[in-house]
Amino acid sequence: MLRAALPLAFLVTVAGCAAPTNNGGDTGTDVGADKVPDKGDFQVQYEPSANADLQAWEDYFAGIQMLESVAGGINDTFALPKDALLIMGECGFSNAFWTSKDKSLALCLELANDIATTFANGGLGLTNEQVVQATVNTYLWVSYHEMGHALIDLLDLPTTGKEEDAVDQFSTVLFIEGGAGWAAVDAGYFFYLVDQGVAAPTDLADEHALGLQRFYNVLCLVYGSDPKEYADLLTSFPEMEARAPRCKDEYLDATDAWTRLLEPYAL
Ligand SMILES: [Zn+2]
Repeated sequence: MLRAALPLAFLVTVAGCAAPTNNGGDTGTDVGADKVPDKGDFQVQYEPSANADLQAWEDYFAGIQMLESVAGGINDTFALPKDALLIMGECGFSNAFWTSKDKSLALCLELANDIATTFANGGLGLTNEQVVQATVNTYLWVSYHEMGHALIDLLDLPTTGKEEDAVDQFSTVLFIEGGAGWAAVDAGYFFYLVDQGVAAPTDLADEHALGLQRFYNVLCLVYGSDPKEYADLLTSFPEMEARAPRCKDEYLDATDAWTRLLEPYAL
């Protein structure tokens, strides 16, 4: 746990896996079709905050060029039909969300603060440096979760099942393919920590899976991607043992689905 390096700028690696070959072989799609034209990009915007704690996070993320990295990865990898916006700023509440009407993805600084507080108070005995690392990993994972929503909307991608689960898979697969599986585990662990273990009716009615379920879903994908490398996860969470033999298929299915969905838009 919490042993990940910062997984920035790895999206291109994933696109390398997803790029269409378009030269022979029956893919079941129109192999000879023209490429989808690239008519847009994500622009980035850091909105200043009067709150010193929130501004400190913004300064940190601006310093590592987080928005530029996330937007650049998407822009360099996929043909988008129109421009969109990736904004970081103070929202007045803790969240991250895609707004279809405005073609805008908002990352609230309050969420970064909440993630950091959750890790700091989670009884893990983390150093400040580890708290920051886990927060960045989780915030970045949430950013790609929201990018999943954005791509589904912008590219009119079909989904079956819950879209929230699909974009959890999108973000987790990107992390894994970028060599940052342990960072995805950090993000999953955030949901483990915030889940109080008692689901209220409002939790059950929500479009997201329960926090613990999201955690185990991330764990299964990461473990399934390389059961030897991630064997420690089963030791730490033996309740996963019954599901574990099927995690490789879960990982392959999620990777295959997203790869095939995005292939027509890969630059
Ligand atoms: Zn979502």
